[in-house]
Parts: sequence; C-alpha cells; structure tokens
Amino acid sequence: MQRICTATKRRIAYSTLVIVVLAMTMTAGCTGIDRNPPKDGISVAVTIPPQAEMVREIGGDRVDVVVMVPPGSDPHTYEPEPALVAKAAKADLYVTIGTGLLPVEDALVARLKAMNPGLLVVDSSNGITYLYPSGENEGTGIGFLGEMPVEGNDRGPQSPDPHIWLSLRNAGIMAENTRDALIRADPAYENEYREHCDNYTSRLQDLDRRINATFSRSHPGMILVTHQAWDYFARDYHLDFVAIEKEGKEPTVKDLASFILLARSHGIRVVFSEAQESSREAETIAGEIGGTVRVLDPLAGDYLANMERVAEAFAEEV
Ligand SMILES: [Zn+2]
Repeated sequence: MQRICTATKRRIAYSTLVIVVLAMTMTAGCTGIDRNPPKDGISVAVTIPPQAEMVREIGGDRVDVVVMVPPGSDPHTYEPEPALVAKAAKADLYVTIGTGLLPVEDALVARLKAMNPGLLVVDSSNGITYLYPSGENEGTGIGFLGEMPVEGNDRGPQSPDPHIWLSLRNAGIMAENTRDALIRADPAYENEYREHCDNYTSRLQDLDRRINATFSRSHPGMILVTHQAWDYFARDYHLDFVAIEKEGKEPTVKDLASFILLARSHGIRVVFSEAQESSREAETIAGEIGGTVRVLDPLAGDYLANMERVAEAFAEEV
C-alpha cells in the first residue's frame, strides 16, 4: 500500500514537472527568441506592396500578409483575382490606403465586408493631411465608404491625391495606424507591435532627414515625371514636379509640344516614368530634348530601400 502511494506520488510529481516544463517552453516561445510563426497568428490584407513591408516590420512573425495589388500592377485599375479575394475575405484585418482615388480598394473592401462582416477594416491614412490635385482643402475625421461608415480620414468633397505612401512623413503616420490596427486585431502582442513600430518609424525618420539634407544642399530644379504621383514627396522637400499625365489623362500632341519647350527651357535631361505604365510619351519627350528616360517604381515592395533609390535618382538629375 505504502509502495503504491509512493509510486502515485512520483507519477503526480512527474506530471507536474512535465506541465511546468511545457509551460516554460510555451512562455519562452511567446516572448520571442527563435520563435516559429505561431499557428494563432493573424492574417492581414493590404492594398499595395509598400504596405506589406510596413505590416511585416511591425507585425513580425505574428502576421501573414495578403497583398491585393501585386508588384507591377496599376492600383488605379487593377482587379484582384477571385482566389486572392477569397483569401483576403478570411483575413482578420484589412489595412486600407483609404484615399478614395483607388476605386479598386473601395469596391474591394465593400465586397470583403459582405463576405466577412467581422473583418476589421482600418484606414492607414487616418490623420494624414491630404493634398488635392487642384490644390484645395483638407480634412481628417470619420470618413464614409459607400453606405458603410468606416473609421478613417475624411476625403472631403473631392478625391484626394491617393499617393500618400510616397511621403516618408505620411508613411510614419501610416505605420502608427497599422500598429494600432494590429493591436486591435491581436491585443495580446501590443508591446511587441509598439516596439517594432518605434524601430520602423525611426528608420523612416532617419531616411527622411537624409533626403531632406540632400535636397536642401542641391537647390534642385524642375523634375519631369510621367505620372502625377510625387506631390506629397514634392511637398516634403520643396521640390518642383511637373507631370505629363494629369489625373489619368493622356497628354495631347499640343501638351507634348509644350512639355518639350518646358524641358528645354529648364535644362531638363531626364524624364522619369513608372514601372506600371507605358513610357511612350516619356520617350518622345526625351528624344526631342536629347535626354533619357529613367524608370521608377512607386509601388516596390522593399519600400524603405526603394524610397532611398528614388530620392537618389531625383537628386542625381536635378
Ligand atoms: Zn498612381
């Protein structure tokens, strides 16, 4: 009897030890070092590749990211494949660009909400001061997405310039909104998300300072681009951009002639076009001014590194 009791006690002690060791292993797993992607992580859908870098940097291995507009596609017109839409509908969170000029995003989010009413949708542009193509008003507050109120930036009566991510200062706000969205979707990891976000935003600020220093030194001239995507960038560094294509409209022959005159009178040697579009007009103008075309990618997935490349390219030519 005595023996049996001792054996039972030993078994209980052994079971307790196993439980304690297992608990310690699990705790170590949650706190970071050498952690594999957890099965209970969250799935986050975003519209464009630069946002994916943001979500991965802040979410770390807690997040699985679904990008709706793949690299090389034009977010102004792209329609995601049904399989990708189905995948995004299963996400825990959708972080939007939120600027309204991406009709693709508005329609997509409405569709995803219909498929998954529990999907948390957060506008990454919340708090960003919008620019408008005609240079008018601005606003922040509660926005509307069709009939469905969403928390976000009020677009006002006009459509704002959607290219908010091409400003590192806007990207800092987007990163903080993304952090807060991740915390709402996955509150147990708040500290981790805050720490990662601080790290990422300090890298954004560091690059912003370096680019600012470059352009403050060089007294840059006019920069000729095909697509009007760089107004936020121009605002940050007091640059003078002229776009060949305005609000998606192709230039007429007369427009092209005036751009050639403008380029000649400003000594412009380079026309910047974009990876997502035809560079036909850019080549026509470059040919006439004896210059060259340089292709940039405003949607590259390696966002921070790409912003540095873009800034260097502009700085070299102005
Ligand atoms: Zn664009």
